[in-house]
Amino acid sequence: MPPLTVLILGGTTEGRALAAALTGCTVISSLAGRTTSPLLPRGEVRIGGFGGVEGLAWFVAERGVDIVVDATHPFAERISANAAAAAAIARVPLLQFRRPGWVEQAGDDWRRVPDLARAAALLPRLGERVFLTTGRQGIAEFAEVDECWFLARSVEPPAPPMPKRLDVLLYRGPFTVGGELRLIRDHRIDVLVSKDSGGADAKLVAARELGIPVVLVDRPAPPPATATAGTVQEAVTWLESRP
Ligand code: NAP
Repeated sequence: MPPLTVLILGGTTEGRALAAALTGCTVISSLAGRTTSPLLPRGEVRIGGFGGVEGLAWFVAERGVDIVVDATHPFAERISANAAAAAAIARVPLLQFRRPGWVEQAGDDWRRVPDLARAAALLPRLGERVFLTTGRQGIAEFAEVDECWFLARSVEPPAPPMPKRLDVLLYRGPFTVGGELRLIRDHRIDVLVSKDSGGADAKLVAARELGIPVVLVDRPAPPPATATAGTVQEAVTWLESRP
């Protein structure tokens, strides 16, 4: 039997880990092309959009893809919806990989909100100096919050519209608790804003330690899938048990 051909829609740490772990499969990883020097997964990598649902379904059929894995970021809503629709058109299974969201612990002061707009509306009541870790594309939602000063961290520089009072730190993780504590203290941060991305949580540990509030944006509901996995090992086990 020829090895399975697996298309991993990635752009995440776990997408790269899965590509490295699936040694018994032919793996094609796909990245959106948002960053100028992305961290590349092992094996074949293609970069750039497919041209919507039809383009993705065509790619799956053309390349003989047996299984699509949606290992994109939990807030990458459009590509996840496209993956579900394209897998249905191409009649291949879809494995949806989602790392677990964060869970509030003793000492946390979290305000959960359904979207970035609600996070922006809440901020003036929580403090003046805001550490914004929602990614470059989310910064525009805070453009009208004139009451606050923002420290935003992203891999690539943001584009307008942007808040009037904004400093940008261009960094790619991983981040340490010690580094996050220093950053929050040095910039006299009052409140942290984050999406509930899950995974490494150094900034949340630092916020807990310093007793500052966190505005956490809830994940959008994921589209239907053939199966779901929350860890790379679960995903590997499911994929390797396919006939
Ligand atoms: P999105 O809004 O869901 O997708 C917009 C369009 O970008 C899609 O319709 C698709 O274009 C293209 N696209 C997205 N991911 C792709 C992939 N892995 N391979 C090929 N095309 C892709 O996506 P986004 O939120 O901008 O995220 C873009 C990428 O950054 C994703 O790969 C995601 O995993 C990663 N990322 C996102 C976040 C976040 O907070 N959203 C954070 C960290 C990393 P076509 O319709 O032309 O196919």
